[in-house]
Amino acid sequence: MRQWREAKARHRDALLFFRVGDFYELFHGDAEEGARLLGLTLTSRNNGAAARVPLAGVPAKALDDYLSRLVRMGRRVAICDQVEDPADAKGIVRREVTETLTPGTIVADNLLTERANNFLVAVVPATDGVYALAALDVSTGELTARRSELADLASELGRLEASELLVPRGASDGELGRAAASTTVTVRDDWLFEADVCENELLRFYGVQSLEGFGFQPDDAALVRAVGALVQYLKEIRPGGVTHLRPPRIERPGRLMALDEMTRRNLELTEPLRVGEEGGTLLDVLDQAVTAMGGRLLRRWTLEPLVVAEEIWARQGAVAGLADVPEVRSRLREALAEVSDLERLSGKLGTGRVGPRDLAGLRRSLELLPAVRAAALESEPPMVRELAEGLDCLEDILDRLVRAIATDPPAALADGGVIRAGWSAELDELRGVRDGARDFIAALQARERERTGIGSIKVGYNKVFGYYLEVTRANLDRVPTEYVRKQTLANGERYFTPELKEWEEKVFGAEERIARLEAELFAEVRDAVAGSVARIQGAGSRVAALDVLAALAEVGARRGYVRPEVHTGFDLVVRGGRHPVVETMMPREEFIPNDITLDEAGRIVILTGPNMAGKSTVLRQVGLIQLLAQMGAMVPATEARLPVTDRIFTRVGASDNLARGQSTFMVEMSETAAIVHGATRRSLVLLDEIGRGTSTYDGVSIAWAVTEHIHEHIGAKTIFATHYHELTQLGDQLSGVKNMNVSVREVGDQIVFLRRLVDGGADRSYGIHVARLAGMPSEIVERARELLAELEGTHSGGGEGLGRYGRHRPRSEASRDQLSMFQVEHPLVRRLRAIDPDDLSPKEALQILYELGSATRRRDEP
Ligand code: ADP
Repeated sequence: MRQWREAKARHRDALLFFRVGDFYELFHGDAEEGARLLGLTLTSRNNGAAARVPLAGVPAKALDDYLSRLVRMGRRVAICDQVEDPADAKGIVRREVTETLTPGTIVADNLLTERANNFLVAVVPATDGVYALAALDVSTGELTARRSELADLASELGRLEASELLVPRGASDGELGRAAASTTVTVRDDWLFEADVCENELLRFYGVQSLEGFGFQPDDAALVRAVGALVQYLKEIRPGGVTHLRPPRIERPGRLMALDEMTRRNLELTEPLRVGEEGGTLLDVLDQAVTAMGGRLLRRWTLEPLVVAEEIWARQGAVAGLADVPEVRSRLREALAEVSDLERLSGKLGTGRVGPRDLAGLRRSLELLPAVRAAALESEPPMVRELAEGLDCLEDILDRLVRAIATDPPAALADGGVIRAGWSAELDELRGVRDGARDFIAALQARERERTGIGSIKVGYNKVFGYYLEVTRANLDRVPTEYVRKQTLANGERYFTPELKEWEEKVFGAEERIARLEAELFAEVRDAVAGSVARIQGAGSRVAALDVLAALAEVGARRGYVRPEVHTGFDLVVRGGRHPVVETMMPREEFIPNDITLDEAGRIVILTGPNMAGKSTVLRQVGLIQLLAQMGAMVPATEARLPVTDRIFTRVGASDNLARGQSTFMVEMSETAAIVHGATRRSLVLLDEIGRGTSTYDGVSIAWAVTEHIHEHIGAKTIFATHYHELTQLGDQLSGVKNMNVSVREVGDQIVFLRRLVDGGADRSYGIHVARLAGMPSEIVERARELLAELEGTHSGGGEGLGRYGRHRPRSEASRDQLSMFQVEHPLVRRLRAIDPDDLSPKEALQILYELGSATRRRDEP
């Protein structure tokens, strides 16, 4: 237990798996936690005189499986292994923590998601309200740094899909803690984030004299701190060192669109709104990438639309260009398809975890690069050509791999046969000796059969006893005297002879030397390849980019998308627009395309229509088309002219933020507030049913005021889907607001959803139609019509145009309306009316006031 205590002391926040024989054991609190998280059986063992120690264990063979479950749950795990052979140990076997696994630092394939990056992110406060972020994917070596305002911090972390955060202790509560939400947070001592500590760390790590070469500027100290803290942490987690980190790339603001969590979720970019649902995201439709690298990059592009027109145009040119040349594209994709994950291979190279099959995979990939390059060079777009021209096909490495590594090497080096014949004369010779000896032994069988006359004599081999001659029981009396018994079986005996022993030693001796030599030779090749890790990463990222461009072209061509005209002006015009995801869920002709224009004269659309008409679909479709355009992709429409927006905001339906302990309405209002604060004239704002979480009157008033505010003070292009018909009055009142609706028609007893977007507000009596169709008695339907007419009379206030909801309308009038709507007298009013003040003494008056006061309070109580 002393070893355990020492190891645990250094890894307090990790579950410590401690090797004992064929098991890894958890003790004390770790055992209890392991039992809870993994369903292990909790037992205990007697610890000498001391109390009983809780204990839970997993078989060594199954360790990986348990580790991956824990890491997915966001836990840290330390593995304490035997570091000397038990046979050589004097006393207790020496054990050390050989590996620490945390969600943000894993490199093993079985723990990673192939098509998503795995970012470890360090966050440090810079100046007031600004944070510096550094993000590292250890599995690929990509390292970036950026600043973020507090308001955008959660968006940034969400966009990176950070799986672990490093934060300084001093900043771990408060704002930072909240932004981290559900990510695993690793709190580290403040001094590890100090500027000079971090700077020295980086200078040492990259072996440079100054950080300027990486693009750090004098006022980037906070970025240096974030990057340095990451590198420092990684050194602790992987004491064996890492050699594949790329130099940090600094992302200056203004290149990528910030996408907040709401918008990512509402537009279902990478995750479906309902957890656990398969398919149904934009990424599912787009992901035609044929490599894992391309898959990851496409995911990032989806979460990081561009905001610089030139960059968008460049990508568009590449995508549309490749969409136009189906044959070139399919040649390119065919070559790409067999390229293995070069980026993650570099992670394995950098952490010394490369096996023979990895190098064989690399060889296959490198063989294909010239074909990738040639196919890409057949196409016109400058971006594609530039990527292809700069693609380093790594011929020197390929040459070495071809000559050194066997065609089909085994997974484990120890299985032998990894190095190809001809690479090392010494190895070839040893193999010759071994094979000769084996042949000799094989030939022995025939000779001994003849010599002894025992026709059934067999030469065999097993791991424990080596080579032997086996004789069945019936022939034992004929065994020659020089045979030495080795092993007794149920129906025979196994023997060796001096001659067999001699040749066996030749085989074993050669095999031992072969194994040692192969390991040396393999290490040489591996190290040579690892020395070129930066070139491999470079090739990997070019391959990924080509793959994504070709994938977007493929989607565009296959689904009939067009290249939108992206401009720096204001107007948004979509003809024949479709929802990229919804359209894939039905036969092609069933999805009804729609046109929509948002321009100065109609920059806000109030979109009405009954439930299920298709309002949300139109709303999201516009958002997705805009987002696709800013990724540089083609869009599902027959024609589109789209502006470069600075942000896309959405507020859709009642989202399930209830877990955070806020009421639905509160969430809705805070989301809406965030939009109102963040949107500019260049934003696209998509609102669906805001105000629904409260009473009709509150709801209409809030929706109304928000629309007015956006119209007058922000000027953003906005679509506002609502079932509040009152809001259609805004279309008459405000110059930039227009009404549209998704039309329905009643045919006989059926309601037909036409899914057509048309000008004007929806037919407001639609609900009553539905009531009738649903079999409501005709008296009720008639009475409802009457009431509706009456209410409409009260509300649209005799041709005032501005309606009774005009902004200057006094509050008292609004509340009078609320009462009149129901045409019943409020009990308090009745009570007041019954009072004759002249009859009351001051004391009685006070008494009544108390009563009324408490009655009011009771009514207001929920
Ligand atoms: P609303 O927001 O008005 O309640 P939705 O947008 O949720 O309605 O649409 C309801 C359903 O109608 C969607 O799930 C989809 O299957 C179908 N739908 C919507 N728009 C279209 C369309 N343009 N063409 C075909 N089906 C559509």
